[in-house]
Amino acid sequence: MLENASIQKGKSVTTDVDAIIIGAGISGMYQLIRLRALGMKLCVFEAGSDLGGTWYWNRYPGARFDSESWSYGYSFSQELLQEWEWPEHFAAQPDTLRYLNFVAEKFDLRKHITFNSRVKAAHFDDEKNIWTVILESGETWRAPLLITGLGPLSAPTLPNIQGRESFAGQSFHTARWPHDPMDFNGKRVGIIGTGATAIQIIQTIAKDVGHLTVFQRTPNWAAPLHNRKVTPEEQVKIKASYPEIFARCRETATCFIHQTDPRRALEVSAEEREAFWAKLYAEPGVGIWVGNFADVLTTKEANALTSEFMARKIRQRVKDPAVTEKLIPKNHGFGTRRLPLESGYYEIYNQPNVRLVDINETPIERITPEGIKTNAEELAFDILIFSTGFDGVTGPYDRIDIRGPGGRSLKQEWISTPRTFLGVMAEGFPNMLMVLGPHTARGNIPRNIEEIVDWITALVIHMRDHGLKRVEPKPEAVQGWAEKVEEAVAGLLFAEVNSWQTGVNRNVEGRDIRCTLGYYGGAVEYRRIADEVAAGCYREFDFA
Ligand code: NAP
Repeated sequence: MLENASIQKGKSVTTDVDAIIIGAGISGMYQLIRLRALGMKLCVFEAGSDLGGTWYWNRYPGARFDSESWSYGYSFSQELLQEWEWPEHFAAQPDTLRYLNFVAEKFDLRKHITFNSRVKAAHFDDEKNIWTVILESGETWRAPLLITGLGPLSAPTLPNIQGRESFAGQSFHTARWPHDPMDFNGKRVGIIGTGATAIQIIQTIAKDVGHLTVFQRTPNWAAPLHNRKVTPEEQVKIKASYPEIFARCRETATCFIHQTDPRRALEVSAEEREAFWAKLYAEPGVGIWVGNFADVLTTKEANALTSEFMARKIRQRVKDPAVTEKLIPKNHGFGTRRLPLESGYYEIYNQPNVRLVDINETPIERITPEGIKTNAEELAFDILIFSTGFDGVTGPYDRIDIRGPGGRSLKQEWISTPRTFLGVMAEGFPNMLMVLGPHTARGNIPRNIEEIVDWITALVIHMRDHGLKRVEPKPEAVQGWAEKVEEAVAGLLFAEVNSWQTGVNRNVEGRDIRCTLGYYGGAVEYRRIADEVAAGCYREFDFA
């Protein structure tokens, strides 16, 4: 148990709390389970009124993940694996939220979580080695360890369009979807954005709305999800196969079950290429993205051929050639942005009640009380949906006033690019451990989370066993990691494209320069390096 543990709530001081965890999503819940097993006293602060993180906030129609469900859940408990049954191969948000509640009940997590508690600031006391966490309510809590489970996509960004506040109908960001059921029947709905979120919403609500207008700035390449129900026979097979499923996830760069094909698109015949792509297009999940030929995401010529294949598919599925051409991305190649998966998305544009507005042709001038005014016309809406994405990865950290020794501000430190060691600790911020911070491997997220949480837990055990009260990465370790991060991203085509993954968000001031926000050398290599650090007794860290 770490000494010096004290916690202060308002003016009353309580003792024996060892760590504060921010966030009760998949990261925070698992970190809570692991640290509680060490006998530590913990509190978790969650901004939402309930747990679930991403799956609590993103409750829009059609929300579902694109990892195979049975590869997505926690793997740490055999009992949990055997008790839970995923109804579909790619579960919808309500099922995932139900799953996380099931986990919380089973492991009795709620009593450690304080809801409706957004953390406003976290300041480190350099002499006492204590973090003081200040909530929006003004309450102040203290603990020696601060663990962030903020999620990479939890800072939603609204479009910076003039008049946004003036709209008289209902409007909201997709990550702030109303909890009460919405009635789209007969409604005139406008949606801004065509990312993975918008694609799921559009394909889901188009059948219910009176009329849907989609405002598109950049089309995205999307591939079929091919979701279906899990049959009872499959359920039995899945439960018997968990060891193999998770072993498979550990072998791949992205922790999905899909492995990159060793062949190069440019080295096989045109027929072989076409047949392979047709096969991938007909298969469920992200295989066409992360299980494609080895050169598709690294070599422009191979990428262009794949893009041509995908463009042909869009042309086959959308009837109006003018709409088709608008839906085919021209400024980035296939897979160079996070691939949205769809179920009938392209066919939606064949419906008479759906219209695609390319805002490059007719820019939005402003939002009015009635709807949206482009330079060509004025469109009236009952509902406006802002599917305009997130300030990715560092955005959630920027929204908390995090200060290290001497009042050093994390936001300022990371203004051009984050500086971390393994993405687990930021340079200059002792005793703050990040689950899924910048520069970690990301893919099938729960797999990455479990590994990082286990790694953090081992570090905490090491500190406890050696009576250590302070940990921070050595400057040379941070520099070495920065170099590894840049080496890993070199040559990847996605690094040349604007997206949340490269840190660009035109709705946020100062987010117009690309930077590297992940470790792209693959999860296998990330794990090897992280394990080596642990096996070497954490030589890369300074302890006190
Ligand atoms: P996103 O991919 O960043 O898309 C945001 C969309 O809004 C883009 O089309 C963007 O256009 C547009 N936009 C932003 N500001 C605008 C403005 N001022 N005017 C007009 N258009 C504007 O965000 P997202 O769709 O929410 O997805 C984010 C990530 O969440 C995904 O990449 C994925 O990682 C995750 N996600 C996963 C799933 C899943 O697992 N199935 C589902 C949904 C989301 P530009 O492209 O031109 O900027």
